[in-house]
Amino acid sequence: MARRTKIVATIGPASESPTVMQRMVEAGMDVARLGLAHDTLDLQIERYFRLRAAAEAAGRPLGILVDLPGPKVRAGSFPDGGLDLAEGQHLRLTPGTGHSTAEVVEVDYEGLLDDVQVGDSLMFGDGSVVVAVRDRDGDGLAVEVDHGGHLEGRPGVHVPSDRLRVPTPTSADLRMLDAFVDVGVDMVAVSFVRSAHDVRRVGTEPHPRGPLVIAKVETRAAVENLEGIVAASGAIMVARGDLGAEFPIEELPHLQKRIIRKCIALGRPVITATQMLESMIHAATPTRAEASDVANAVFDGSSAVMLSGETAIGHDPVGTVRTMARIAGRADQEFDYSGWAPQLSQLNVVTPGAGDAQVTDAMTMAAWRAATEARASAILCLSRTGFTVRVIARFRPQTKILGFSTDERTVRQLTLSWGATPIALPERGGETHTQIEAAIEIARARGEIRSGDTVAVLAGTHGGSTATDQLRLVHVP
Ligand code: PGA
Ligand code: MN
Repeated sequence: MARRTKIVATIGPASESPTVMQRMVEAGMDVARLGLAHDTLDLQIERYFRLRAAAEAAGRPLGILVDLPGPKVRAGSFPDGGLDLAEGQHLRLTPGTGHSTAEVVEVDYEGLLDDVQVGDSLMFGDGSVVVAVRDRDGDGLAVEVDHGGHLEGRPGVHVPSDRLRVPTPTSADLRMLDAFVDVGVDMVAVSFVRSAHDVRRVGTEPHPRGPLVIAKVETRAAVENLEGIVAASGAIMVARGDLGAEFPIEELPHLQKRIIRKCIALGRPVITATQMLESMIHAATPTRAEASDVANAVFDGSSAVMLSGETAIGHDPVGTVRTMARIAGRADQEFDYSGWAPQLSQLNVVTPGAGDAQVTDAMTMAAWRAATEARASAILCLSRTGFTVRVIARFRPQTKILGFSTDERTVRQLTLSWGATPIALPERGGETHTQIEAAIEIARARGEIRSGDTVAVLAGTHGGSTATDQLRLVHVP
């Protein structure tokens, strides 16, 4: 069985050469992430074009995701090799954008002195170091290290989100996004969203014309407003780095499951992110706990699992993608496909009311049943926006899903969808049945299906609506 769970990998200094990018695609990177909190916009745009070329060279569709930093607070860069901070050590934090030293850490947040209070805990580098604020004077905060560790580069500083007064997306985010919309980016992730309104403020055209908008769930407010945020978004990221700092750490595994279940119910792809194979930044193999984490994220229902620093600054980005592909692919084999459906019925997956969404809900459920009972070798979805493909993925059919679209951007957005092989369908106009014939022929030529197979085909008959209203079981000629 081919791997069903998708892999998102972050591009950085360790992975920006055309050869490494191509080898990452070949190793299983489905979506490349450009974290705009790092490096210059020009360099990120350059990486974007290199990624397009690498995907072309590898002959595989690749989604490109830009991740907007939002009001992400960072420390000024630490000296080469980083610094070890020990428990009990005293430091000063000052607002500024200069370098950090062992005595003074600069923090690029103007509101630092106003928004942070004595008694607050601040976390550096996704929890590597925790400091307690002891005192505040005119131009800085006196802090004491509660939990020591190693810091290098420009680590993030977690300020509790209910203290942060900067809105998201920020105006800098929207400017950077404009540049990427111009070049045709496939997906955009928005950091620190607190409400559905924050998601709507992205303001791009609805996908597939615009990018698929991915809300990162990483604040308390986002967890409280989860339903609205998921409904307003094209996909969701469980951003465990900041989320794990906002909530007691023992809550994190359960929040992950809760967020994923909401995404399944509403048919949105969901990425489980951060520290999945963290030790592979330096090591050749992951820890046992990391391997289990990736597999369990698959069992929870993640559509995709993500690599951050592992591929951006790690010693072996290609090997890390390969390792993740092996762990995820093996977990896909063990996935409880038959036990999934009964669980789903508790999630109320069918959208209440009438309309296109409800028709597609009913049709995808029928397709999943028919494909399973007829022992179909594939489910072919002909989808303009990708909606049908994302909706059928909820059922986690063991049958392979081939996601066809005449829209190139839809094809690249489907790289994030669980279980779907994205395939471009040439635009020929014509009736639905000629489109279906073309799709079957392409699938047969690619070796995805064979003459004599039975396949299920899902398609929409009229261009004006997104509803999928046709299900056929076809004997492949
Ligand atoms: P970040 O988002 O790496 O941009 O902070 C992911 C996370 O918070 O987990
Ligand atoms: Mn984050």
